[in-house]
Amino acid sequence: MADPAKVHAEAIVIDGHADTPQRFLDESWNFTDALHGGMLSYDSAIEGSLNAQFFAIWVDPHHHPAEHSARRTLELLDATLEQVQRAPDKLALCLSADDILAAHRQGKFAVLLGIEGGHSIENSLGLLRNYYRLGVRYMTLTWSNSNDWADSSGDKPRHNGLTSFGRDVIREMNRLGMMIDVSHASDKTFWDVLETTSVPIIASHSSARSITAAPRNLTDEMIRAVAKNNGIVMVNFYPAFIDEQWRAAWNASRAERQREHDALQAEYKAQGQPVPFFASNRIDKKYAERIGRAPFEALIQHFHHIIQIAGIEHVGIGTDFDGIPQAPDGIDSAADLPKITAALMQRGYTAADMHRILGQNLLRVLREVEQSKSKA
Ligand SMILES: [Zn+2]
Repeated sequence: MADPAKVHAEAIVIDGHADTPQRFLDESWNFTDALHGGMLSYDSAIEGSLNAQFFAIWVDPHHHPAEHSARRTLELLDATLEQVQRAPDKLALCLSADDILAAHRQGKFAVLLGIEGGHSIENSLGLLRNYYRLGVRYMTLTWSNSNDWADSSGDKPRHNGLTSFGRDVIREMNRLGMMIDVSHASDKTFWDVLETTSVPIIASHSSARSITAAPRNLTDEMIRAVAKNNGIVMVNFYPAFIDEQWRAAWNASRAERQREHDALQAEYKAQGQPVPFFASNRIDKKYAERIGRAPFEALIQHFHHIIQIAGIEHVGIGTDFDGIPQAPDGIDSAADLPKITAALMQRGYTAADMHRILGQNLLRVLREVEQSKSKA
């Protein structure tokens, strides 16, 4: 067996989803700073041989009114782009698969942008196009909220999937060369997307529902459909999505957690301020710590399962770092990513398999989506 540490170090490692931009904006924290309680930083990425990160531009719909989604989106984009401005010797904004390869050759960390939640476009294809111009290369169609044109897995259905404008959004993303991300989408939205898109899709941070019954995960039938579409499912590290026992314990604390979140919101509202993510995440972290860590093997099982039913070419990593209150046992930050390569190789996956899982699969999808630009 090849040395897993060497395989991991030589691969191009791409993570599909991290919520770190909230920290850039709300905590004035820089990517090149020490972790300070976070899960992803420049140093931890170097230590874990993580080469490229899709940064999630997420506007919390509970704390920012829908008609101000674009303002917060632009501020988060600015805060992330500013990181590249401040450390141009370490970070490179990447707009294409070739850019990621070039950054890797230059020894720079590849910064990529994805919007999480279609409410960011405020029902405007013009805004969607402007986000593309600013560098956004995927959009997660919904967050946990159903928006005016797409239903979410975390909300009541409003449209039975995609509306006709929702289908226009899909076609415009195909035309622009922006990847469609179905994580968070309702099942019906997922199937409507597959019916509409002419290119491969991604699930930037979702795991397998047949193992862990969270509606945020994809069923085996959906995973097979992503494979048929030549897309990719990027495994989410959230314990509630990878370990059924942890999920049950988490759900059991829901009412109690909600009361604390409500009190926090009232506190900020009294000051006329939206609740920053770090404040609400602090509550969730406290409750997660009470449950304890989900087993690391649970995470590996999700990779293994998705590969078994979809094939090695249709899986990737979508950590959800800095968006989740806790990662499974042994994963504290990006520095721990080599453990995944070691565990999967222990199960018999080869160096070539690992290169695909860690980054080649995502590069393939990104390339296909880019190439469709001229055709659509
Ligand atoms: Zn998410």
